[in-house]
Amino acid sequence: MKRIIAVANQKGGVGKTTTAVNLAASFALTRRRVLLIDIDPQGNATMGCGVEKSQISRGTGDVLLEESDAASAILPLESVPGLSLMPSNQDLTAAEVRLLTTMAGRELRLRNALKPVQDQYEVIIIDCPPALNMLTLNALVAAQSVLIPMQCEYYALEGLSALVSTIDQIKAAVNPELELEGILRTMFDPRNNLANEVSSQLIQVFGDKVFRTIVPRNVRLAEAPSFGKPVLQHDKDSRGALAYLALAGEMLRKDDEVVGESEVASPLDTPPGAEAAGAESDRPLN
Ligand code: ATP
Ligand code: MG
Repeated sequence: MKRIIAVANQKGGVGKTTTAVNLAASFALTRRRVLLIDIDPQGNATMGCGVEKSQISRGTGDVLLEESDAASAILPLESVPGLSLMPSNQDLTAAEVRLLTTMAGRELRLRNALKPVQDQYEVIIIDCPPALNMLTLNALVAAQSVLIPMQCEYYALEGLSALVSTIDQIKAAVNPELELEGILRTMFDPRNNLANEVSSQLIQVFGDKVFRTIVPRNVRLAEAPSFGKPVLQHDKDSRGALAYLALAGEMLRKDDEVVGESEVASPLDTPPGAEAAGAESDRPLN
């Protein structure tokens, strides 16, 4: 697992923000220091963390325009110990327009801004907008890996190939270390035949880059943002909360496998509930 992970998919409404917020909160529960960066003018991750987007004094837009350093734009969240947020709102659209008229180094702004602060965090998660624009480009240039949430629908695989080729281009041009962290099946309904079919095609094409953890459609996940909370703070026993804990656990376990195949994973490294939900993830989730 990489330290700086962009959650991206140019398709709208596939669960990027839900994944970014809840995965960040799940890592924070393991006592890791986590930074969540909202680089979407919709400000959904900001609102989902209980921060009123119209009230923010500094955010990602100011950082991209070099009008604020990253440290001054980061808010520790009292409601989720260990989690800090770089918030955003619609001002980010104006910032993007100004970036577009900037010539040199406009895609490097976030990467450069993060350098002085990144070592303070064990995990940095960036919530991207639903577009392959200058904001997403900044995220993909700053990131070490990309996590792609997707809904198993008819056109999903087509959109995925555009994203994968964008990742390859960025890798070749500016960010050689960029990797695919994994593809996450979201809002999954196992009773839907098409979802099962797309899911098996996905595994045929992407193999073990498809996370074993599957996020089911779960009403608690959908309602948590209206309380300004990650689902762990809203209903920690819900299947949505367990799925994101399982995802964090799966990502940490993959790390252990890479570090030492024979080492036994420390129970402290796996978030509570992750094992149970992880095991669940291979069974139908309804
Ligand atoms: P955008 O492209 O607009 O940024 P997104 O990809 O960030 O969207 P989300 O905002 O996370 O997608 O999710 C879209 C909608 O689906 C939201 O209303 C969210 O609450 C809901 N949702 C996301 N995941 C789930 C889930 N697993 N179960 C039920 N509802 C979900
Ligand atoms: Mg979003």
